[in-house]
Amino acid sequence: MRKFLASVGCVLGSLFAAEPIPLIIAHRGASGYLPEHTLAAKALAYAQGADYLEQDVVLSKDGVPVVQHDVTLDSTTDVATRFPGRQRADGSFYAIDFTWAELRQLRVVERFHPKTGKAVYPRRFPSGVGEFRINTFEEELQFIQGLNRSTGRKVGIYPEVKLAGWHRREGQDISKAVLAVLAKHGYATKADLCFIQSFELEELRRLRGELGWKGRLVFLTGGKSTWTDTPEGLRELAQVVDGIGPPLSAVAEGRVLTGLVARAQAAGLQVHPYTLRNDALPKGFGSGRDCFDFLSREAKVDGLFTDFPDVGR
Ligand code: CA
Repeated sequence: MRKFLASVGCVLGSLFAAEPIPLIIAHRGASGYLPEHTLAAKALAYAQGADYLEQDVVLSKDGVPVVQHDVTLDSTTDVATRFPGRQRADGSFYAIDFTWAELRQLRVVERFHPKTGKAVYPRRFPSGVGEFRINTFEEELQFIQGLNRSTGRKVGIYPEVKLAGWHRREGQDISKAVLAVLAKHGYATKADLCFIQSFELEELRRLRGELGWKGRLVFLTGGKSTWTDTPEGLRELAQVVDGIGPPLSAVAEGRVLTGLVARAQAAGLQVHPYTLRNDALPKGFGSGRDCFDFLSREAKVDGLFTDFPDVGR
C-alpha cells in the first residue's frame, strides 16, 4: 500500500511539477503552422501547450524592440513592395533603418527566399496569405501575460537578444532596450519564467555583470564551441549562464549521443537544443514524435526548441 501511495505521489508530483521536462520552447511560436513571430503563431503555440514562447528581438530606427528573427526584413515581410528603394547597398532592407511607425505598416508572410519568392518550407502555411503584422516586444509580452491571466496558466518567455555587437556598431544598445521592457513587465529574477538567450558570450557576461540582470541566461552555441568541449569550459560557463542551447547535431549524431547533455548537466547547466522540425528531421528519425521521444527519454534534454509545439503532447 505504501509503495502504491508512493508511486501515486510520484505521478502526481510529476503532473504538478512547476516545470515539466523537457520544457517545450515554441521556436518563433508555432512557426511550423503559421508565419513565424506573429501573434497568431504565438496563440497557437500557447494553445498547443508550450511551456515557453520564444521572441527574437531586433531594434527599429527609433530604438523600439520588435519581435523579428532577422535584422533584415527581406524574407518574412512585404518590405520590398511597400518601401521600394529603402534597401542598403547590399540589397537588403534592415529593420534598424525603419521607424516603428513604418515597421508596423508591413505585412508578415510565411518565410520565403527573396531571390526566388519560393517558400523555405513548402508544406507550411501558404506564402503571401493573411493579414499578419510585426509586433513590438512589449506588445507580445502583454499578449502572453493576457493569456496567462485568461487561462490561469503560466507560460514563460524566451527572448533572444539578436546580434548585440552588430546593433552596437549601428549605434544602438539592444540589451538595455530588452531589459527595460522586461523590468516593466515583471521579469527580474530566476523565479520568473524567462530565459534570455544569446550566441554572444561576451554580451551574456555584460548582461550578468554591467547590466545587472538577475534572471536566467542561456548561451546558444553554434556547430562547434570550445566552451562545451571540456568539463572546465562548461564549469566556467556555469558561472555566467544557467543553460546552453546547442544545435541538435551537437547532442546526437543520428541516434548516437555525443555525451554533451550529460557533461553539461554535470556542470550544473540546463540543455535546451534547437530546433526540432517535423518537416526537416535529423537523419535516423521517422517522425517528429520519434525524435521528441529520443531527446526526452534517451538524450534527457531539459528543454527543446521546436517549430511544432504539439510534437510531444
Ligand atoms: Ca532565436
